[in-house]
Amino acid sequence: MTHPQPVDVAIVGAGIIGCSIALDLARRGLRVSVFERGAEAGQEQSSRAWGFVRQQGRHPAEIPLAAEANALWREMTAQRGLAATGFETNGILTPAETAEDEARIEAAHRDAAGFGLRTRILSPPELKGLLPQLAGTWRGALLTDGDGYAEPAAATATIARLAAEAGVILHTGHPVLGVALRGGVVEGVETAQGLCRAGAVVLANGVGAAGLGRRIGLAMPVQVVRSTVAGTAKAAPFTRLAMWGPRVAFRPRPDGSFVIGNGYRGAGADYDITPNAWRHLRHFLPAYRRNWRQLRLTMGREFLGQMRATGSAAPGEPPVNRAKLARNMAAFRALFPHLGELPMERSWAGRIDLTPDVIPIIDRPWAGRDLYVAAGFSGHGFALAPSIGRQVAGWIADGHPGLDLSAFRLARFTEGNAAGARHSL
Ligand SMILES: Cc1cc2nc3c(=O)[nH]c(=O)nc-3n(C[C@H](O)[C@H](O)[C@H](O)COP(=O)(O)OP(=O)(O)OC[C@H]3O[C@@H](n4cnc5c(N)ncnc54)[C@H](O)[C@@H]3O)c2cc1C
Repeated sequence: MTHPQPVDVAIVGAGIIGCSIALDLARRGLRVSVFERGAEAGQEQSSRAWGFVRQQGRHPAEIPLAAEANALWREMTAQRGLAATGFETNGILTPAETAEDEARIEAAHRDAAGFGLRTRILSPPELKGLLPQLAGTWRGALLTDGDGYAEPAAATATIARLAAEAGVILHTGHPVLGVALRGGVVEGVETAQGLCRAGAVVLANGVGAAGLGRRIGLAMPVQVVRSTVAGTAKAAPFTRLAMWGPRVAFRPRPDGSFVIGNGYRGAGADYDITPNAWRHLRHFLPAYRRNWRQLRLTMGREFLGQMRATGSAAPGEPPVNRAKLARNMAAFRALFPHLGELPMERSWAGRIDLTPDVIPIIDRPWAGRDLYVAAGFSGHGFALAPSIGRQVAGWIADGHPGLDLSAFRLARFTEGNAAGARHSL
């Protein structure tokens, strides 16, 4: 490996966020290098996501980003073909079982309407007409026709390839060890091959961002949580809708199989108590109180793994939660009795960079210094990535983003202005 050449922008992390920012910057004519500690782009969160690309049910601050991202997903798919992204807008359905669920979908409907997003509340007969195979008693459902899903691994690989075609240099197996600062000015990033000089640096390194930030005095309250996913065997196709239900979420794949994740009510991610969680305990306490049933108050493998993890080494394969797999599969089979005992064929887990208010940190935290952060995506970064690319690239190239990103500033945690979390991933 040769000494990295000076660039306009150095990006840490080749997940879907880092690659999207790099692509947009390169299309604006800037020289960009992306440094990735893994063997290829997208191996951590970005290839492990469920693949939901949703605008509905988002924090209001995220809706404009989600709407822009939806349009960019459509554009990329129209230009590159369905196989390149897997992006399809077959609608996402959020059914309500209890009065509390109903209040939740009504609030999401109001938020969406406030931003001109077309969502509909379906009555129980309308829901039955749309998805006759769905068992259970439902009070209604929220449907956003324009929402959909994409294939995470394929889409991330496509964005990385487009970035390379646009001139971005992707340094894989090339961890960033630190950000070089001199006299308040960002000099570049430090790697095992030496300093890569850069006019601007972007921390887009997912679960590694808080650790790298800490070395230069940036305190990012990000906790790493784990989410477990199942993939079923193929079934005779009967729906192209994706659903985010109270007990289980699913999306269909083109081959008739389903990707299965947790529902919106309760049983989401595993909250291992890890070193960064201790550091930022006061920020996370309200979320812990709400989610105490999911806390795993252990200092087990995840704690030690994350203690040992450095910027140069990923913390290793995250463990799957077998009890949650079984529960989610059982909840899915209960929704569609006609599928019988449709078997689970694969499972995996992924680490998620969670902030206390469950919205990301997208910021230039030190005025006058060209350091940008795009991390803490709290389980939403796959869907938002094309818009994050556009916004952060615009910020760097034009001096300001196109949309108002103030809700995502890092200082909200120290100002005590963190948005109230509706805590679900
Ligand atoms: C199970 C699961 C399901 C999800 N489902 C959805 C979903 O349906 N919809 C949705 O929108 N989002 C979903 N998400 C969240 C989504 O996957 C993430 O928000 C998104 O992928 C974040 O992208 P990223 O590029 O920031 O992070 P990552 O993909 O994690 O990329 C960060 C990269 O930085 C690299 N890195 C870290 N430290 C360093 C260093 N020091 N030097 C060099 N490289 C470094 C890592 O190796 C990694 O490749 C899900 C996540 C998981 C785990």
